Amino acid sequence: MEETRFGNIVFIPGLNKARYPYCNSLFIDDEVKAVIDPASNPDLLLNIKKTSSIDVIINSHYHEDHFAFNYLFPAAALWVPELEAPCFKSIQSLFEYWGAVGPSLENEFQTYLKSFHYEERVIAREFRDGDVLEFGKTKLEVISTPGHTPGHSCFYCPEQKLLFTADLDMTSFGPWYGDKYSDLLQTIQSVHKLLAIPAEVYITSHDMGIINGSIKETAEAYLAKIAERENRVLNFLEKERSIPEMVSKWLIYKRPMEPQHLFIFAEEKMLRSHLAYSMQKGQIKQVGDKYVAV
Ligand SMILES: [Zn+2]
Repeated sequence: MEETRFGNIVFIPGLNKARYPYCNSLFIDDEVKAVIDPASNPDLLLNIKKTSSIDVIINSHYHEDHFAFNYLFPAAALWVPELEAPCFKSIQSLFEYWGAVGPSLENEFQTYLKSFHYEERVIAREFRDGDVLEFGKTKLEVISTPGHTPGHSCFYCPEQKLLFTADLDMTSFGPWYGDKYSDLLQTIQSVHKLLAIPAEVYITSHDMGIINGSIKETAEAYLAKIAERENRVLNFLEKERSIPEMVSKWLIYKRPMEPQHLFIFAEEKMLRSHLAYSMQKGQIKQVGDKYVAV
């Protein structure tokens, strides 16, 4: 993908099709110059920095593949979702939101975080649902879309009818809800919230990047991944199974992810979300420490 301009909003493609550990960024080239999610491509971001003094950087949520190159803009004011501000102020809070608690785990995550250049920062602005971020001619409405993370935020520019969907990314993998405060049902509700916005151009953080026209079918296929996961879990529960048995099968990711000892957290968290959701619907029951389909 190439850099693409929509009025004063410039799409900055991430390396490797913006797959993890990269994402797509937006450069707001207005009176106030800003970069949203600076984790795309350090060379492109440094080029922008050379020609424009960046006043503001914005993170849509606290994930490392969205803040990896924040460090290139030490003088810029940092704007983040109010609900996730603690993660940017202190590494301990970031660990807590991830669900990585305990000295040995924290050490492992700290090592992992080194390549993402995490640094504790002062927050200049904490935004919330409905806030309008003004850059001059360009205005972005904050659309709070919890589920992936509790403060996950999308941004809508009415003038360009452009919606930045962040990690409601419409990838073939499907939605991700694998952190401590992630939530399956909120994720579904947030996708529906996006569908009610009259956008004509959509920018995702990963893979597809720019989607022109309607995202209705893309969003339906994206949400269908949740039902596919649910079916895989239900099929595996033909017999009574324990959580470790299910986790070892990678029913959500479908294959072992590296580094396994870190990804196993997200696998278990998402699996537990499905167990809770299916129990609520009366599709499975718990027998001791095992689960089985009914
Ligand atoms: Zn994310």
